[in-house]
Amino acid sequence: MDIQQSDVLSIDLEDAIVAPGLIDMHTHIYPLCGMTEDTLPMIDGEAHMFQNGVTTAVDAGSCGCKDFFDFKNRFIDKSKLRILAFINIAHGGMVSLASELEPDNFYVEIAAAIAKEVPEVVGVKTAHYHVGKPFDQEHPAWASVDAAVKAGEIAGKPVMADVQPYLPGRPYEELVLERLRPGDIHTHVYAQQFHILDENNKMKQFMLDARARGTIFDLGHGAGSFWFRNAIPAYEQGFYPDTLSTDLYLHNVNGPAFGLLNIMSKYLNIGMPIEEVLYRTTARPAEVIGHTELGKLEVGMEADIAVLKLHEGKFGFADSGNARMDGKYKLECILTVRNGELVYNPMAYGMPDWKNAPESYHIAPGVIQL
Ligand SMILES: [Zn+2]
Repeated sequence: MDIQQSDVLSIDLEDAIVAPGLIDMHTHIYPLCGMTEDTLPMIDGEAHMFQNGVTTAVDAGSCGCKDFFDFKNRFIDKSKLRILAFINIAHGGMVSLASELEPDNFYVEIAAAIAKEVPEVVGVKTAHYHVGKPFDQEHPAWASVDAAVKAGEIAGKPVMADVQPYLPGRPYEELVLERLRPGDIHTHVYAQQFHILDENNKMKQFMLDARARGTIFDLGHGAGSFWFRNAIPAYEQGFYPDTLSTDLYLHNVNGPAFGLLNIMSKYLNIGMPIEEVLYRTTARPAEVIGHTELGKLEVGMEADIAVLKLHEGKFGFADSGNARMDGKYKLECILTVRNGELVYNPMAYGMPDWKNAPESYHIAPGVIQL
């Protein structure tokens, strides 16, 4: 394609960070349980993502096969935001949470077929499976994880597992060392219920073994899944989350998750270098979901770009236990480009000064003739 001089927008971005469009590995774009269509306008997932420099949002199992094509037709296919998805192994997904509690609802073959055939599906999700009583033959402890892994095997795609709550008969060690395959993901790794540290705050050996065998650890902040008391000692011992993500939905968008930049800012203040923070929100999630064409800036690819400003000052950050961390760094998005289009431009880049705007700008419209 020939690029005309008039098509080229030149912007002075001195002191800004020009990054590939960010990837939020764990979001909920499709309306979840209790969020009817009437409540949808309260959070516009696309706008929120663009304001955070996110150009690719991965929906983590909001829909099972029952609602997946509604999701695709109304959101995935119509959005400027690139939406990818893990399909929920439970046919009703998180739209009707009861669906995730009953093994009869785990439609392995159908979930696998959708995961295999629909290009936007990056894997299979399982979450929230528990039965409120000891596991038994009808409700085996690992029913949902095993079903998701089976579907993942058929589709040749990874599984993302959320195994809350932590129940007897379903040890976390077994999940990350045996049940998940290398390349599968445990999300919410720093939630309060995972005993990843010993009594001296030392990282437990099984976590290091799990990482060595290829289990992926996603942050998945959410309302209740990020605790400084787990994340910071882990970081200080060199155990970084593979991917930083929000688990964003209606009930955490005003805290404590807020958005991907808030979580990236938390890690800057914990001590992670900016290059590492960006790696875990661009190239690393792209690898994990098998889309290595994303998360980088290269000639010939769709122009997805996040321009970020790093502020220094006095800031505070909350975790899921309502504990605070003081910090001096905070990231702000000052421009988001999705496929070459300026989709979030709060600094008005590329616009003329109003005094020099074209003649048409200065002409007041006439009275409308009805
Ligand atoms: Zn989630």
